[in-house]
Amino acid sequence: MSFELLYGYCHCFGKTTYRHGLVASETEARRWVAAGRSDDRRPMPPGSDPVWTCPVTGCPGHVQRPWFAYRPVSGEEDATQ
Ligand SMILES: [Zn+2]
Repeated sequence: MSFELLYGYCHCFGKTTYRHGLVASETEARRWVAAGRSDDRRPMPPGSDPVWTCPVTGCPGHVQRPWFAYRPVSGEEDATQ
């Protein structure tokens, strides 16, 4: 069992989700999530994320504060990475 690290941004139209990578233990995943929530060093959004381009005034995406999460993945899903 490994764990996929996820982050993304909340926008006016919903949220975007990106994969940060895989870790081998839930402890490690939890630590990454906790660090992401408390640390100012955060992953850069991909250039395609509308965090940069959304024209809507007041879009929460403009705050550019990502959310962090993780999920368990099966061995088969690992192979497709
Ligand atoms: Zn928006």
